[in-house]
Amino acid sequence: MPAFLYIHIPFCIKKCLYCDFLSVPYDESLVKAYTDALCKELILKKNDAGDLKTVYVGGGTPSILSEKCFREVFECLKNNFKFSDSHEITVEANPGTVDKSKIDTMLSLGVNRLSIGVQSFNDAELKTLGRIHTSDEALKAIETIKNSGIDNFSIDLIYGIPGQTDDSWRKTVSRAVELSPAHISSYELTTEKDTPLYRLIQSSEVKMPDEDMVLSMYDYAIDYLTSKGYEHYEISNFALPQFRCLHNLNYWSRGEYIGAGAGAHSFIRGFRSQNTGDIRKYIEEIKKEIIPEAESVEIKCEDAIKEFIFLNLRKTEGISLLKAEALGVDMSGVCRGLIEDGYLEIKGDYLRLSRKGLVISNAIIIRLFEGLGLD
Ligand code: SF4
Repeated sequence: MPAFLYIHIPFCIKKCLYCDFLSVPYDESLVKAYTDALCKELILKKNDAGDLKTVYVGGGTPSILSEKCFREVFECLKNNFKFSDSHEITVEANPGTVDKSKIDTMLSLGVNRLSIGVQSFNDAELKTLGRIHTSDEALKAIETIKNSGIDNFSIDLIYGIPGQTDDSWRKTVSRAVELSPAHISSYELTTEKDTPLYRLIQSSEVKMPDEDMVLSMYDYAIDYLTSKGYEHYEISNFALPQFRCLHNLNYWSRGEYIGAGAGAHSFIRGFRSQNTGDIRKYIEEIKKEIIPEAESVEIKCEDAIKEFIFLNLRKTEGISLLKAEALGVDMSGVCRGLIEDGYLEIKGDYLRLSRKGLVISNAIIIRLFEGLGLD
Protein backbone atom coordinates (compact mmCIF):
# COMPACT_ATOMS: atom_id res chain seq x y z
CA MET A 1 0.00 0.00 0.00
CA PRO A 2 1.27 3.52 -0.76
CA ALA A 3 3.42 5.00 1.99
CA PHE A 4 3.62 8.42 0.36
CA LEU A 5 0.95 11.09 0.73
CA TYR A 6 0.61 14.39 -1.14
CA ILE A 7 -1.75 17.11 0.10
CA HIS A 8 -2.61 20.07 -2.15
CA ILE A 9 -3.34 23.53 -0.76
CA PRO A 10 -4.60 25.58 -3.76
CA PHE A 11 -4.42 29.10 -2.32
CA CYS A 12 -1.97 31.95 -2.87
CA ILE A 13 -1.91 35.61 -1.94
CA LYS A 14 -1.50 36.60 -5.57
CA LYS A 15 -0.91 34.69 -8.78
CA CYS A 16 2.70 34.82 -10.02
CA LEU A 17 3.03 35.85 -13.67
CA TYR A 18 4.47 32.51 -14.84
CA CYS A 19 2.25 30.22 -12.78
CA ASP A 20 -0.08 27.61 -14.21
CA PHE A 21 -0.43 25.55 -11.01
CA LEU A 22 -3.83 25.08 -9.47
CA SER A 23 -4.17 28.01 -7.09
CA VAL A 24 -6.73 30.73 -6.40
CA PRO A 25 -6.57 33.86 -4.24
CA TYR A 26 -6.84 33.31 -0.49
CA ASP A 27 -10.41 33.56 0.82
CA GLU A 28 -10.86 32.78 4.50
CA SER A 29 -14.28 31.13 4.35
CA LEU A 30 -13.33 29.07 1.28
CA VAL A 31 -10.10 27.97 2.97
CA LYS A 32 -12.06 26.87 6.04
CA ALA A 33 -14.52 24.82 3.95
CA TYR A 34 -11.61 23.41 1.95
CA THR A 35 -9.70 22.34 5.06
CA ASP A 36 -12.79 20.53 6.37
CA ALA A 37 -13.22 18.77 3.00
CA LEU A 38 -9.53 17.85 2.89
CA CYS A 39 -9.75 16.19 6.29
CA LYS A 40 -12.81 14.30 5.17
CA GLU A 41 -11.02 13.08 2.04
CA LEU A 42 -8.05 11.98 4.12
CA ILE A 43 -10.37 9.90 6.29
CA LEU A 44 -12.03 8.41 3.19
CA LYS A 45 -8.61 7.40 1.86
CA LYS A 46 -6.96 6.25 5.09
CA ASN A 47 -7.48 2.55 4.39
CA ASP A 48 -5.58 2.83 1.10
CA ALA A 49 -2.39 3.92 2.88
CA GLY A 50 0.40 1.91 4.44
CA ASP A 51 2.57 3.29 7.24
CA LEU A 52 3.50 6.71 5.89
CA LYS A 53 7.13 7.36 5.02
CA THR A 54 6.48 10.84 3.69
CA VAL A 55 3.83 13.53 3.66
CA TYR A 56 4.31 16.45 1.30
CA VAL A 57 2.06 19.49 1.65
CA GLY A 58 2.37 21.45 -1.60
CA GLY A 59 0.50 24.14 -3.45
CA GLY A 60 -0.34 26.84 -4.08
CA THR A 61 1.09 28.27 -0.90
CA PRO A 62 0.55 25.86 2.01
CA SER A 63 2.23 28.28 4.43
CA ILE A 64 -0.71 30.64 3.84
CA LEU A 65 -2.88 28.41 6.07
CA SER A 66 -3.68 29.72 9.52
CA GLU A 67 -2.25 27.87 12.50
CA LYS A 68 -5.79 26.63 13.25
CA CYS A 69 -6.10 25.07 9.77
CA PHE A 70 -2.65 23.49 10.06
CA ARG A 71 -3.69 21.96 13.39
CA GLU A 72 -6.90 20.60 11.88
CA VAL A 73 -5.08 18.89 8.99
CA PHE A 74 -2.25 17.48 11.09
CA GLU A 75 -4.55 16.29 13.90
CA CYS A 76 -6.53 14.48 11.21
CA LEU A 77 -3.35 12.85 9.91
CA LYS A 78 -2.24 11.85 13.40
CA ASN A 79 -5.62 10.35 14.27
CA ASN A 80 -6.13 8.41 11.06
CA PHE A 81 -2.77 7.36 9.63
CA LYS A 82 0.17 5.38 10.91
CA PHE A 83 3.68 6.67 10.30
CA SER A 84 6.81 4.62 9.76
CA ASP A 85 9.50 5.10 12.40
CA SER A 86 11.49 7.55 10.38
CA HIS A 87 9.34 9.79 8.21
CA GLU A 88 9.71 13.00 6.25
CA ILE A 89 7.00 15.65 6.51
CA THR A 90 7.52 18.57 4.14
CA VAL A 91 5.55 21.79 3.87
CA GLU A 92 6.11 24.25 1.02
CA ALA A 93 6.54 27.76 2.38
CA ASN A 94 6.73 31.12 0.70
CA PRO A 95 8.60 34.08 2.12
CA GLY A 96 6.02 36.61 3.24
CA THR A 97 3.68 33.96 4.63
CA VAL A 98 5.75 32.57 7.49
CA ASP A 99 6.59 33.95 10.91
CA LYS A 100 8.08 32.42 14.04
CA SER A 101 4.73 31.48 15.54
CA LYS A 102 3.58 29.64 12.41
CA ILE A 103 6.89 27.81 12.06
CA ASP A 104 6.79 26.78 15.73
CA THR A 105 3.25 25.47 15.21
CA MET A 106 4.35 23.43 12.18
CA LEU A 107 7.28 22.01 14.14
CA SER A 108 5.04 21.08 17.06
CA LEU A 109 2.78 19.22 14.61
CA GLY A 110 5.62 17.09 13.31
CA VAL A 111 6.73 18.99 10.20
CA ASN A 112 10.45 18.27 9.80
CA ARG A 113 11.25 19.72 6.38
CA LEU A 114 10.43 23.04 4.70
CA SER A 115 10.74 23.84 1.02
CA ILE A 116 11.03 27.57 0.51
CA GLY A 117 10.04 29.22 -2.77
CA VAL A 118 12.77 31.87 -2.97
CA GLN A 119 13.31 31.68 -6.77
CA SER A 120 15.84 34.53 -6.90
CA PHE A 121 17.75 36.89 -4.63
CA ASN A 122 17.45 39.67 -7.19
CA ASP A 123 14.51 42.04 -6.67
CA ALA A 124 14.13 42.96 -10.35
CA GLU A 125 13.86 39.25 -11.26
CA LEU A 126 11.35 38.63 -8.46
CA LYS A 127 9.28 41.46 -9.88
CA THR A 128 9.48 40.01 -13.40
CA LEU A 129 8.18 36.72 -11.99
CA GLY A 130 5.40 38.54 -10.10
CA ARG A 131 6.47 37.09 -6.74
CA ILE A 132 5.05 38.77 -3.64
CA HIS A 133 8.33 38.88 -1.74
CA THR A 134 11.63 40.74 -1.98
CA SER A 135 15.11 39.31 -1.56
CA ASP A 136 15.34 40.80 1.96
CA GLU A 137 12.05 39.20 2.95
CA ALA A 138 13.32 35.82 1.73
CA LEU A 139 16.50 36.25 3.79
CA LYS A 140 14.46 37.16 6.88
CA ALA A 141 12.14 34.16 6.43
CA ILE A 142 15.12 31.82 6.16
CA GLU A 143 16.73 33.36 9.24
CA THR A 144 13.49 32.80 11.18
CA ILE A 145 13.34 29.19 9.95
CA LYS A 146 16.95 28.56 10.98
CA ASN A 147 16.46 30.22 14.37
CA SER A 148 13.52 27.90 14.96
CA GLY A 149 15.92 24.97 14.75
CA ILE A 150 15.03 23.61 11.29
CA ASP A 151 18.16 22.39 9.46
CA ASN A 152 16.33 20.39 6.86
CA PHE A 153 15.11 23.08 4.53
CA SER A 154 15.26 23.42 0.78
CA ILE A 155 15.54 26.54 -1.34
CA ASP A 156 13.85 26.67 -4.77
CA LEU A 157 15.59 28.76 -7.42
CA ILE A 158 14.67 29.62 -11.01
CA TYR A 159 17.04 30.36 -13.88
CA GLY A 160 16.28 31.60 -17.38
CA ILE A 161 14.26 34.58 -16.09
CA PRO A 162 13.85 37.47 -18.56
CA GLY A 163 16.49 40.09 -17.73
CA GLN A 164 18.57 37.63 -15.69
CA THR A 165 22.29 37.66 -16.40
CA ASP A 166 25.02 35.09 -15.77
CA ASP A 167 26.28 37.36 -13.04
CA SER A 168 22.94 37.75 -11.24
CA TRP A 169 22.34 33.97 -11.43
CA ARG A 170 25.77 33.32 -9.93
CA LYS A 171 25.01 35.75 -7.12
CA THR A 172 21.66 34.08 -6.44
CA VAL A 173 23.20 30.60 -6.31
CA SER A 174 26.06 31.66 -4.05
CA ARG A 175 23.71 33.59 -1.75
CA ALA A 176 21.58 30.44 -1.47
CA VAL A 177 24.62 28.34 -0.54
CA GLU A 178 25.71 30.89 2.09
CA LEU A 179 22.43 30.17 3.89
CA SER A 180 23.41 26.47 4.26
CA PRO A 181 20.20 24.81 3.09
CA ALA A 182 20.21 21.01 3.16
CA HIS A 183 18.71 20.95 -0.33
CA ILE A 184 18.48 23.22 -3.38
CA SER A 185 16.14 22.86 -6.36
CA SER A 186 17.12 24.76 -9.48
CA TYR A 187 14.45 24.91 -12.18
CA GLU A 188 14.53 26.42 -15.63
CA LEU A 189 11.71 28.91 -16.14
CA THR A 190 9.17 27.50 -18.54
CA THR A 191 6.57 29.71 -20.12
CA GLU A 192 3.19 28.05 -20.03
CA LYS A 193 0.36 29.14 -22.30
CA ASP A 194 -2.43 31.09 -20.59
CA THR A 195 -0.06 32.83 -18.21
CA PRO A 196 0.54 36.59 -18.20
CA LEU A 197 4.26 36.00 -18.75
CA TYR A 198 3.54 34.01 -21.91
CA ARG A 199 1.41 36.85 -23.25
CA LEU A 200 4.10 39.40 -22.42
CA ILE A 201 6.62 37.34 -24.38
CA GLN A 202 4.24 36.85 -27.30
CA SER A 203 3.72 40.61 -27.50
CA SER A 204 7.51 41.17 -27.29
CA GLU A 205 7.16 43.25 -24.13
CA VAL A 206 9.43 40.78 -22.38
CA LYS A 207 12.27 38.78 -23.92
CA MET A 208 13.47 35.39 -22.72
CA PRO A 209 17.25 34.94 -22.35
CA ASP A 210 18.90 33.07 -25.18
CA GLU A 211 19.16 29.31 -25.02
CA ASP A 212 22.96 29.13 -24.74
CA MET A 213 22.93 31.42 -21.75
CA VAL A 214 20.22 29.33 -20.08
CA LEU A 215 22.27 26.16 -20.65
CA SER A 216 25.35 27.84 -19.20
CA MET A 217 23.33 28.81 -16.10
CA TYR A 218 22.37 25.17 -15.61
CA ASP A 219 25.99 24.09 -16.13
CA TYR A 220 27.15 26.66 -13.62
CA ALA A 221 24.64 25.48 -10.99
CA ILE A 222 25.85 21.88 -11.37
CA ASP A 223 29.54 22.85 -11.09
CA TYR A 224 29.10 25.30 -8.25
CA LEU A 225 26.68 23.31 -6.11
CA THR A 226 28.62 20.05 -6.43
CA SER A 227 31.84 21.92 -5.54
CA LYS A 228 30.07 23.00 -2.33
CA GLY A 229 29.21 19.43 -1.32
CA TYR A 230 25.69 19.16 -2.77
CA GLU A 231 25.00 15.88 -4.55
CA HIS A 232 23.33 16.35 -7.90
CA TYR A 233 20.78 13.54 -7.55
CA GLU A 234 18.07 14.56 -10.00
CA ILE A 235 18.06 16.77 -13.11
CA SER A 236 16.99 19.84 -11.08
CA ASN A 237 17.77 18.80 -7.51
CA PHE A 238 20.81 18.95 -5.26
CA ALA A 239 21.16 17.78 -1.66
CA LEU A 240 23.73 17.50 1.06
CA PRO A 241 24.44 13.82 1.87
CA GLN A 242 21.41 12.23 3.62
CA PHE A 243 19.08 15.10 2.68
CA ARG A 244 17.57 13.98 -0.62
CA CYS A 245 13.84 14.54 -0.80
CA LEU A 246 12.39 11.07 -0.14
CA HIS A 247 8.93 12.10 -1.28
CA ASN A 248 10.04 13.22 -4.73
CA LEU A 249 12.43 10.28 -5.08
CA ASN A 250 9.38 8.05 -4.83
CA TYR A 251 7.80 9.86 -7.83
CA TRP A 252 10.98 9.45 -9.87
CA SER A 253 11.13 5.77 -8.96
CA ARG A 254 7.55 5.34 -10.18
CA GLY A 255 6.36 4.46 -6.70
CA GLU A 256 2.73 4.55 -5.62
CA TYR A 257 1.31 7.54 -3.75
CA ILE A 258 -1.97 8.94 -2.53
CA GLY A 259 -3.01 12.49 -3.35
CA ALA A 260 -5.57 14.53 -1.44
CA GLY A 261 -7.04 17.92 -2.24
CA ALA A 262 -8.33 19.66 -5.35
CA GLY A 263 -6.35 18.72 -8.46
CA ALA A 264 -4.21 16.21 -6.55
CA HIS A 265 -2.89 13.17 -8.41
CA SER A 266 -2.72 9.62 -7.07
CA PHE A 267 -0.99 6.51 -8.38
CA ILE A 268 -2.32 3.31 -6.90
CA ARG A 269 -2.44 -0.27 -8.21
CA GLY A 270 -1.44 0.82 -11.72
CA PHE A 271 -4.06 3.59 -11.99
CA ARG A 272 -3.19 7.26 -12.22
CA SER A 273 -6.07 9.46 -11.12
CA GLN A 274 -6.64 13.14 -10.51
CA ASN A 275 -9.17 14.95 -8.35
CA THR A 276 -11.20 17.72 -9.90
CA GLY A 277 -9.46 21.09 -9.97
CA ASP A 278 -12.76 22.87 -9.35
CA ILE A 279 -12.38 23.78 -5.69
CA ARG A 280 -16.08 24.35 -4.96
CA LYS A 281 -17.06 21.12 -6.72
CA TYR A 282 -14.36 19.32 -4.75
CA ILE A 283 -15.83 20.59 -1.48
CA GLU A 284 -19.41 19.72 -2.45
CA GLU A 285 -18.59 16.20 -3.63
CA ILE A 286 -16.53 15.40 -0.56
CA LYS A 287 -19.43 16.55 1.64
CA LYS A 288 -21.42 13.74 -0.03
CA GLU A 289 -18.49 11.39 0.70
CA ILE A 290 -17.67 11.07 -3.01
CA ILE A 291 -14.02 11.20 -4.10
CA PRO A 292 -14.27 13.82 -6.87
CA GLU A 293 -12.05 12.20 -9.47
CA ALA A 294 -11.79 14.10 -12.75
CA GLU A 295 -10.08 11.13 -14.37
CA SER A 296 -8.61 7.74 -13.67
CA VAL A 297 -6.47 5.88 -16.20
CA GLU A 298 -4.85 2.48 -15.97
CA ILE A 299 -1.22 2.73 -17.08
CA LYS A 300 -0.51 -0.39 -19.06
CA CYS A 301 2.31 -2.00 -21.06
CA GLU A 302 4.02 0.58 -23.28
CA ASP A 303 2.92 3.54 -21.17
CA ALA A 304 4.25 1.90 -18.03
CA ILE A 305 7.60 1.31 -19.75
CA LYS A 306 7.74 4.91 -20.96
CA GLU A 307 7.04 6.17 -17.46
CA PHE A 308 9.68 3.82 -16.06
CA ILE A 309 12.28 5.24 -18.47
CA PHE A 310 11.56 8.95 -18.29
CA LEU A 311 11.05 9.03 -14.53
CA ASN A 312 14.10 6.95 -13.62
CA LEU A 313 16.34 8.81 -16.08
CA ARG A 314 15.57 12.02 -14.18
CA LYS A 315 17.66 10.63 -11.34
CA THR A 316 21.38 11.00 -11.93
CA GLU A 317 21.78 7.41 -10.71
CA GLY A 318 19.73 6.43 -13.78
CA ILE A 319 17.79 3.33 -14.76
CA SER A 320 18.45 -0.06 -13.23
CA LEU A 321 19.13 -2.32 -16.19
CA LEU A 322 18.05 -5.32 -14.13
CA LYS A 323 14.68 -3.69 -13.47
CA ALA A 324 14.38 -2.77 -17.15
CA GLU A 325 15.07 -6.39 -18.06
CA ALA A 326 12.44 -7.55 -15.58
CA LEU A 327 9.96 -5.30 -17.41
CA GLY A 328 10.94 -6.98 -20.68
CA VAL A 329 12.86 -3.95 -22.00
CA ASP A 330 16.17 -4.61 -23.71
CA MET A 331 17.91 -1.26 -23.78
CA SER A 332 21.29 -2.44 -25.05
CA GLY A 333 20.75 -2.04 -28.81
CA VAL A 334 19.04 1.32 -28.71
CA CYS A 335 21.50 2.77 -26.20
CA ARG A 336 24.65 1.90 -28.08
CA GLY A 337 24.55 4.92 -30.38
CA LEU A 338 23.67 7.31 -27.56
CA ILE A 339 26.51 5.93 -25.46
CA GLU A 340 28.94 6.28 -28.37
CA ASP A 341 27.78 9.85 -28.89
CA GLY A 342 28.44 10.56 -25.21
CA TYR A 343 24.84 11.23 -24.11
CA LEU A 344 24.37 8.12 -21.99
CA GLU A 345 26.75 6.09 -19.86
CA ILE A 346 26.63 2.85 -17.95
CA LYS A 347 27.79 2.59 -14.36
CA GLY A 348 27.47 -0.84 -12.79
CA ASP A 349 23.88 -1.96 -13.30
CA TYR A 350 22.69 1.56 -14.12
CA LEU A 351 22.18 3.40 -17.38
CA ARG A 352 22.31 7.15 -16.86
CA LEU A 353 22.49 10.47 -18.64
CA SER A 354 26.02 11.78 -19.01
CA ARG A 355 26.73 15.42 -18.23
CA LYS A 356 26.37 16.11 -21.96
CA GLY A 357 23.03 14.24 -22.02
CA LEU A 358 21.63 15.92 -18.89
CA VAL A 359 21.29 19.31 -20.54
CA ILE A 360 19.21 17.87 -23.38
CA SER A 361 17.47 15.13 -21.42
CA ASN A 362 14.11 15.53 -23.18
CA ALA A 363 15.65 15.01 -26.62
CA ILE A 364 17.54 11.93 -25.39
CA ILE A 365 14.40 10.43 -23.89
CA ILE A 366 12.56 10.92 -27.22
CA ARG A 367 15.40 9.15 -29.04
CA LEU A 368 15.20 6.28 -26.57
CA PHE A 369 11.45 5.93 -27.07
CA GLU A 370 11.88 5.97 -30.85
CA GLY A 371 14.63 3.37 -30.66
CA LEU A 372 12.45 1.13 -28.51
CA GLY A 373 9.49 1.56 -30.86
CA LEU A 374 7.43 3.35 -28.20
CA ASP A 375 5.09 5.99 -29.64
S1 SF4 B 1 3.33 31.04 -5.16
FE1 SF4 B 1 3.63 29.22 -6.46
S2 SF4 B 1 1.58 28.35 -6.72
FE2 SF4 B 1 1.30 30.44 -5.94
S3 SF4 B 1 1.02 31.69 -7.75
FE3 SF4 B 1 3.21 31.75 -7.28
S4 SF4 B 1 4.13 30.05 -8.46
FE4 SF4 B 1 1.90 29.75 -8.42
